[in-house]
Amino acid sequence: MRKACPTCGTWQEFQKLNDAEKAAVRAVKGDRHYVHDLWRCTADGCLWYQPWHHTRGGDLLPERFRKEAAAPE
Ligand SMILES: [Zn+2]
Repeated sequence: MRKACPTCGTWQEFQKLNDAEKAAVRAVKGDRHYVHDLWRCTADGCLWYQPWHHTRGGDLLPERFRKEAAAPE
């Protein structure tokens, strides 16, 4: 599923948050924060997540969820 990522500034593949990511969002936003319609940008190095229909309510995942780009040869 592709969306415009406000952090990347381009269209990117988004994926629903996995359990570890949901737990991390709740650790920051509180246990009652609604995490079942949050999607993250899967671009290398991007930590942006947001509800499907709007960027309001979006934020950045903790640093440990950053996917580094493959190291150049
Ligand atoms: Zn992004």
